[in-house]
Formats: sequence, C-alpha cells, structure tokens
Amino acid sequence: MTDNTVIIMLVPYSSKVPSLTRNLMFRTRGLLTMMSVKRTSLSTNTNTTQRSTNTTSTNTYSTTIPSTNTYSTTTQRSTNTTSTNTYSTTIPSTNTYTNTTQRSTNASNTTYISTNSSTIPSTNTYSTTQRKATKVPHVCIIGSGPAGFYTAQQILKSHPSACVDMYERLPVPFGLVRYGVAPDHPEVKNCINTFTQTARNPRFTFLGNVSVGPDNDSIPLAQLRSAYHAVVMCYGSSRDRTLNIPGECLPNVVSARRLVGWYNGLPEDTDLDVDLGVESVVVVGQGNVAVDVARILLTPVDALRKTDIPEAVLNRLSESRVRRVTLVGRRGPQHAAFTIKELREMINLPGCKPHLNPHHYTHLRDIIPDLPRPRKRLLELLAKTGLDPPNPKLAASYTTAQRTWSLSFLRSPIQVLASEHQGVIGIELAINRLEGEQGRERAVTSTETEVMECGLVLRSIGYQGVSIDPSIPFNDNTGTIQHIDSRVMGMEGMYVSGWIGTGPVGVILSTMTSGFSTGKAVVADMDRGRLDISEDKPGQDYIRDLLAQNGVRAVNFNEWSTLNHHEETEGARLGKPREKVTSISAMLKVMNH
Ligand code: FAD
Ligand code: NAP
Repeated sequence: MTDNTVIIMLVPYSSKVPSLTRNLMFRTRGLLTMMSVKRTSLSTNTNTTQRSTNTTSTNTYSTTIPSTNTYSTTTQRSTNTTSTNTYSTTIPSTNTYTNTTQRSTNASNTTYISTNSSTIPSTNTYSTTQRKATKVPHVCIIGSGPAGFYTAQQILKSHPSACVDMYERLPVPFGLVRYGVAPDHPEVKNCINTFTQTARNPRFTFLGNVSVGPDNDSIPLAQLRSAYHAVVMCYGSSRDRTLNIPGECLPNVVSARRLVGWYNGLPEDTDLDVDLGVESVVVVGQGNVAVDVARILLTPVDALRKTDIPEAVLNRLSESRVRRVTLVGRRGPQHAAFTIKELREMINLPGCKPHLNPHHYTHLRDIIPDLPRPRKRLLELLAKTGLDPPNPKLAASYTTAQRTWSLSFLRSPIQVLASEHQGVIGIELAINRLEGEQGRERAVTSTETEVMECGLVLRSIGYQGVSIDPSIPFNDNTGTIQHIDSRVMGMEGMYVSGWIGTGPVGVILSTMTSGFSTGKAVVADMDRGRLDISEDKPGQDYIRDLLAQNGVRAVNFNEWSTLNHHEETEGARLGKPREKVTSISAMLKVMNH
C-alpha cells in the first residue's frame, strides 16, 4: 500500500451489519487514520448508497473527492413522508469547512435556509470516508440553557455529520440566561449571540414547547432513547431547596427562585403572589441569587425601567414600600457565597446604604492574608465597608439614602412568625457557632434565639434538580444525575451536562466548560465505538409523529426569532431592550403557531 492510496469502503446503510463486520470496520478505521493520504494525487471516487429511513422515503448518498482537494457530498433525504431535504457540504483545501443546507422542518412546512462556516484545524485527521460509512448520528439534547447550547456547539464542531435536536419545555430558548440572569446585567446575556449561531447550523433543530418526562403531556425519556443514538440531559435545576421550618408555607414566604422568575417574565411565575407593601425583607442565604433579589428590590424603579423587566412587574415595583433588606447567613462573613462584583454593586446602589455591624468584620483582617486571591479581594472589600468610613462621594450619597441593606451572620431560621391574619411579622433565628477545620467550618445551632422583624421572607438557599425518569440514577440529596465524566452511570448512550450534573453551582463560564466536555465525550464515544451508531435511528421524525398524535407541533427556531423580533420592537417603543411576552398562549399567538 503506497502513500497515494486511499481505501473507501462501500458499506450499505443497513442495521443488519453483523457485529463482527462492525468490529472489522472499526479496526479498519484505526488503520486508515494512521495512513498518510496525499489528497493532491487522488483520483475521483464516487460512492453512492441508497437508504430508506422510513417506508416511503429514499435517500441518495454520494461522495466525490476530486483532485482539487474539494470534498463534496450531496444527500437527499426525507425526514418524513412529505418533505425532502437537500444537504451539501464542501471542504476546500484551506481546511475551511462551509456547510450550506436547505431543509424543510416538516409538519409546519416551514423551510429554513442557513449557512454556517467554521474552521477545521489543519491537524484534523478524521477520515470523512469512514464517518460517512456509518449512519448519521442523531443526538438529542434536553434543555436549551447554556449547558444544552454549549454541548450542541461542541458536537457540531467536532463531528462532521452528527445532527443535534434540542427539546425545550418552554416555547423559548436559553434557560436561565433569559429567566435567571438579573435584568440589570444585560451584558451577561451576550452568550445568546453564540447560542443563536449554533441554532442556525443546518444540522441543529430546536423543538420548543416540548417537555420531556413522566407527565401526560411530556415525551417519555424511553421514547427519546429509542429514537436517538445519544441523549444528553441538560435540563438544569428547576426547583429550590426548602428550609423545612414552621411557617414556610405562609403567603409572604416566597422562594427567591420564583421572585427571579417573576421579574424576568417566566410564564409560570407571572402571577406570583408577593406583597411588596412591607418595609422589611429578610433574605435567607448569602449567595449571588440572594444579592440579585435584594438589589432588584432596592434599586430605584426608574433605573429598572431601562431593563427588560416586564411592564406589569415594573408597575408593582413602583408601588413597593420595601426600605430594608437583610441577608441572613448561617455561617460567618468569611463564608459569604456572593462575589465581589455583586458586593460592589450593593455598596454603590443609588439611594441605598449599607448598615453593617463592625463587630462582624474585625477578625477578617487577620485571616485575609492566607486566603486565595478572589476570596481575599472579596473579604478586603467587606472588611473595608464594615469597618472604615466611606469615601467622600459615597458618604455624600449615603446621607440622602432612603433604603438600607445589611448582613446578618451565624443565624439559622427556626420558624416564620405570622399575625393572626397570616401576615408575616418576623422570623425566629437560632444563633450558631462554627465547628470543624478552618475553611470548612459548619454551622451548629445553639439554644439561643432571636427574632428579626420583617413582612416578607425570601428563601434563597440554592436551586434543586429533579429526576425526569425513574430509570435515571439520581442522587436526591444533591439533586443531580449520577455520572462519570458526563456519562450517566449504567445507561449507555446517556450523557449529562450543566447544573443537572454538577448541581446548582457555578456561572455560565463553568457551565460552558461542562458543556464542552460533555460534547467531547459524546463524539469521542462515537469515534471509539463506545457508542453504537451503526444502527439507523429516526431522530426527530419519530418524536414529531408522537407529538402529532397528541395534536402538538414543536416550536422551531424561526418562530422564536419572530417572537424575539416582536419583543425587541415592543421594547424599543418603551425605551428598553425588550418587552417580554409572559404567557405561553400569547407567545404562540405572536409566533402564529
Ligand atoms: P438552565 O439554564 O436552567 O437550562 C435548563 C433548561 O432546561 C431550561 O431552559 C429549562 O426550561 C429546560 N428544561 C427543564 N426541564 C425540562 C424538561 N423536563 N424537558 C425539556 N426541557 C426542560 N451565571 C453568570 O455567569 N452570570 C450571571 O449573572 C448569572 N446569574 C444567575 C442568576 C440566577 C438567578 C441563577 C439561578 C443563575 C445565574 N447564573 C449566572 C448561573 C447560570 O444561569 C447557570 O450557570 C446556567 O444557566 C446553568 O445552565 P444549565 O443549562 O445547566 O441550566
Ligand atoms: P449559592 O451560591 O450556593 O448560595 C446559597 C446560600 O444559601 C449560601 O449562603 C448557603 O450558605 C445558604 N444556605 C444553603 N442551605 C442553607 C440552609 N439550609 N440554611 C441556611 N442557609 C443555607 O446558591 P445561589 O445563590 O442560588 O447561586 C447559585 C449559583 O448561581 C452560584 O454558583 C452563583 O454564583 C450563581 N449565580 C451567579 C450570579 C452572578 O454571577 N452574578 C448571579 C446569580 C447566581 P452555606 O455557604 O453555609 O452553605
């Protein structure tokens, strides 16, 4: 065999290839990638295979590798009984991969045409010939938050033919980027541009308004597993942790998660019953979510009018009587879970001043020198704010401040206290001491207690993931799916990414890292034969049929773009980035769905 030889195996698309043959193909693949192939001297090879993905459609598959180093593939495939899709790929000799696809997204008869360019590094040694000898791998992603989109991006980038379908329970994409990130932090939402680029890849399909799970109106996980070669669970942490104390179910004890959903226009929280006609609010927890809700409640409403907070919520906030917000932590200031940017924003909040007890901060300056840099900077700022007089500019602004915020430490809630009319009047807190080695101290309650007066309690002690199927190995304590390196334990072809795998911690950047490593794991498993992609799988066609039987049609990305445009147009009229549509029926109406 010389350097100038290339082997092209003509393998019919049949699920009946015996496993021995498949093993041989796999080994041959290893041999081929080790070979040095001089493309400049290649003669033209044509490879034509006919395959049928269902009883009525015929797909033609042809490959040509001409001597000009241009690789082109034309595939006609029908994704359902009525539509025909044309797929063409060109890889020019510059190693730039350009992919133009016209395809019909079936039931809706909506046709979208998109062009996508990405660069394959010159070291890329994958053999397209070998990959094309297998079926098109169909990957399903559950959830359209950062984890879902970054996983999809990685799979589409590292595999030349895999198709990725993303199922999202809401008609709109982007998860907590749309419904969690604070509205006064619009720059954080810039990742949506990258997600939109991924969504325009012709091998990507968004199927919104489709929930996966055990409920009657959801698609069961088992159906997805049979329709796809790989299923990646990226559905985040959709509940919150509870305190399990008396009074937690009182009317004005509200989870921060729901308040966040309310001011972000999440349909299920639009009608949140929260009474802001109170002066004092206690937030239990000292993480960034606690700071987010405190900041939104204390920011002058006119400053919030420039954000994408829905008008109905702005109206309620304009009537708010909230003057004091206290963030209660069960451990000490050195354990506060918020980060420096968020603390700085609180210190500089217009019309608001910190009310901090210096006794809590005196010991901090002794421990600061030994801490890692981010923690050191955070605690230096905390100690400075608690112990030193403010600079003249801040001092001037504090003199006219009408609102205050404060931090309380070493306190654990025992019960929420109510008036005879069920109105919250305070929260009883146990006074704690710390036990355990330095840096890992845990709070231990004493018998000593105190009462903090307030009219609203916000519970902000973390989000919580749930299981969507009894077959999933799920850890109820952590609210996470059990996995090893993104691979769900004991379930072949099942993967996990983002908060449902890591737990509800970390920012978009860490979720991106999680998404990329899951995407790499999926493609590595395809390449190494750990994931069986030799059998044809119907992917979305099968699921769309199931949905159609229930009279449901998934929302596609073009329909989201229509809603997006509508929201931006309405927002521009009001001088804000967007005015969100906050009910699902209204969303579908705008989409002409
Ligand atoms: P999610 O973003 O929650 O996405 C999960 C998706 O799955 C959702 O769209 C959900 O609707 C969908 N889904 C759920 N169940 C189903 C189902 N059964 N079927 C189909 N779909 C389903 N990070 C930052 O970097 N900067 C910030 O400013 C910031 N602010 C934040 C503010 C808040 C209030 C919170 C809670 C987090 C914030 N984060 C921030 C963290 C960031 O949002 C997360 O790291 C990230 O969103 C986690 O991504 P994910 O994809 O795992 O989950
Ligand atoms: P978090 O950072 O884990 O904070 C949870 C807080 O609740 C901690 O103070 C924790 O105290 C406390 N807590 C937990 N259980 C408790 C209990 N039983 N009783 C009393 N207190 C309890 O969670 P989060 O604030 O929900 O944020 C989730 C993630 O999203 C974080 O990683 C956060 O950084 C990220 N996020 C980022 C931004 C941003 O970048 N701007 C904004 C929002 C969220 P202990 O430390 O003692 O456990």
